[in-house]
Formats: sequence, structure tokens, C-alpha cells
Amino acid sequence: MNNYIEQIRSHFPALQQQIYGKPLVYLDNAATAQKPQQVLALLAEMDGMINGNIHRSVHYLSTKCTELYENARKSACRFIGAAHEHEVIFTSGVTAGVNLTAFSFGEAFVKEGDVILVGESEHHSNIVPWQLLCARKRATVRMWPIDEQGKLRMDLLPELLDERVRLVAVSHISNVLGLVNPIQEIVEVAHTYDIPVLIDGAQGVVHEKINVCDLKCDFYLFSGHKLYGPTGTGILYGRERWLEKMPPWQGGGDMITSVSFSGTTFADLPLKFEAGTPNFIGQAGLGAAIEYMESLERDVLEVYSRMLVQTGMELFQKIGGLRMYGVGDREKIPLFSFSVAGVHATDMAILLDKMGFAVRSGQMCAEPVLVKYGQTSLLRASFAMYNTQEELHQFVEALHKVISMLR
Ligand code: PMP
Repeated sequence: MNNYIEQIRSHFPALQQQIYGKPLVYLDNAATAQKPQQVLALLAEMDGMINGNIHRSVHYLSTKCTELYENARKSACRFIGAAHEHEVIFTSGVTAGVNLTAFSFGEAFVKEGDVILVGESEHHSNIVPWQLLCARKRATVRMWPIDEQGKLRMDLLPELLDERVRLVAVSHISNVLGLVNPIQEIVEVAHTYDIPVLIDGAQGVVHEKINVCDLKCDFYLFSGHKLYGPTGTGILYGRERWLEKMPPWQGGGDMITSVSFSGTTFADLPLKFEAGTPNFIGQAGLGAAIEYMESLERDVLEVYSRMLVQTGMELFQKIGGLRMYGVGDREKIPLFSFSVAGVHATDMAILLDKMGFAVRSGQMCAEPVLVKYGQTSLLRASFAMYNTQEELHQFVEALHKVISMLR
């Protein structure tokens, strides 16, 4: 197992560097992950040599880029088990995908008095676009509470899903709690009321295998930069039956079949939702990241991830005054968000940084869940498949030191 992790680690040049003369221990993967050589090489090659605007010109560079871009769509389609490539829309990430859906689904299906049901532990990007939609349509965002352990209150779901609810928006895995939400069950329950479900897979797609056809979810979104791919990339998967009825979000080149001043007709899926020159180099890089993921033994990595969670929970529990958020019987990824009594999270993060440890502190773009726990700032250490068990032990040791310095 350790050899396999070391082998994966060797593919990521950024992990070999030193920060302030200390070996980098990168534990901010839930914010963004590092990229493997395979992805970096493709990006460099395209930036330097293979650059031509897609879907337009007939010359070699353009057709090559179109091929790389559309191959990335094929890879994304295969990776999430979508039924059709045209159900995979390229976006700049989850934020853009939720905004697209909130606007476009909202235009087609949401009217005054309607409700969008949103989980309490959602990232701001899966809350604010729904609030903007609801302000526009005089609709309401209804919050679906979590319990003390951070689990969505499944017992409340049937009563929350009344006839006014048009959509349920929920994450696969919370970026603060690291708990895997029971998305299969959520989809099943919502569908018994004919209500579609949007799943924010920003963290989920990295740690869990996903098959949107088995899951039967209506929308599934992820960002490339958390999946070892480039920033400004990602996908919105939507079921054809919804996407066909949703109007375009942005207008411009590539999303039309014909433009005239008396009226314009729009391209078929997926281009209807891809106006303007997309980040085609980035999306091709996302394709390379997906192919890289497909080359790994994900079952082995899942076992490894559970090991990190178990060891981490045992080690963190031994730190006096530490309170962990996202605990209990629900499956968890190696993402640890905690507070330490009497010590500010950002002070810890600053000292840890000087020791070579990159972690996150603050609200983590999920203010409602912090407010629920009466906190304004947490420290988060989020592990990726390339983080070693040794790094986990080193981190806990450093944390002990930092806490004793600050107390
Ligand atoms: N949802 C979750 C659960 C996230 O972790 C993040 C990124 N922190 C986002 C949404 C937003 O992703 P992006 O900034 O890539 O659009």
C-alpha cells in the first residue's frame, strides 16, 4: 500500500518542493489539488504548440484542439457513467454549473411561491445562486437541517418535500464536514415526489466512484481543479429531459445555429450551454486528469482513505480541547475540520505554514454550518490520495507544538 501511494506521489512535481526550507506537506486538497505530470505535460504542450480555436477553423491546430476537447467530454461522460455525451456540459467549475442551472432551470421551471430545498452544510456556491434565483422569481430557499453530528436529517425529508418544492440541491460530500451524504436515498425519496435532485460533486467525485445513471440524479457537478486537473474547468451533468427544456444561460458564439436580427436559433446540446471560446486547453487537461484517475486502482485508494480517516480520528482525539466537526457513523473522507479551545484557527494555520504544512483556516465558504456549531473559524486538513500516513503523523505532531506555543 505505502509503495503504491509513493508511486502516485512521484507523479506530482509540486509535492517535491520545500517551503521555507521545509518539505511541503500539502493538506489543502479540498480547496485545490496538485496536478500530475501527465496533466502538466498536456497543458504545456497545448499552451506552447497545439493552440487553435475549437469547432471553427479547418486547419490542423483547430481540429486537433477540437478533438482533444471533445475527447475530454467523452472521458468525463465515461467517468461519471452518463448515458449521453451531450448531457455533459463544460463549465468553469461547480460555481458556474450551479449558477447555470439556477438561472436556466429557474427560467423554465420555477415560479412565484415555489421552493428550492438546500442542505444546511452546503458550500456558498450551492446556496447563493438559489437565493439569487428565488429573489428574481419571488420563490424561497428552504434549508434542510443537519443534526449535531453533521448528518442531513433524513427523517425530515418527506415533510420538507411539499408540493411547492421544485428542486433539491445538496452536496455529495461537504467540504467542511467530510461526510458522505446518502445521495442514493435522497434521490429515491425526492423522485417519489417527482422532484429533481442536483448534486454538488466538488468533493464527492474525488473520493467516490460515481455512476449518474445508477444514481438517477438529475444534475451532478464537479470542478477540475479538485480532481487533479486545471483550474477554471469542470462539468455540469444534466439529464437530457431537463437540459432540453432549459433555455440557454449565456449567449454568444458556438451556442447558435443561426443568428439574425429577427431572431436566433440555438445549437443542440451540449453547445447550447457553451457560449464563446471555452477554456479548451483546460478542459483537455481535465480529460487528462480523468484518464489519470481511471488508470489508478480506486478500490485500493478507498481502503487507504478509510485508513487515514481511522488513524486521523484516533490521533486528533488525543489533542486536549480539540473539537472535530463531522463525526459519527456516516462514512467520512480524510478531511478533518476542527477547533481548538482558546486558540484561533488562523494563528495555527500561519505557524503551521512556516513549518511546511499547508492547511485551510476560516469559514471555508460555508458560513451557515459554522454558525450552526457556534464557530467563526475552523482549521481544516484535507488529505488526498498522495498524502502519506507519515505526513498525517507529522501533522499531528506539529499541531501539538503549535497549540502549546499559542496557549
Ligand atoms: N462545493 C463544494 C463542496 C466545494 O468544496 C467547492 C470548492 N471549495 C465548491 C462547491 C466550489 O467549487 P469551485 O470554487 O471550484 O467552483
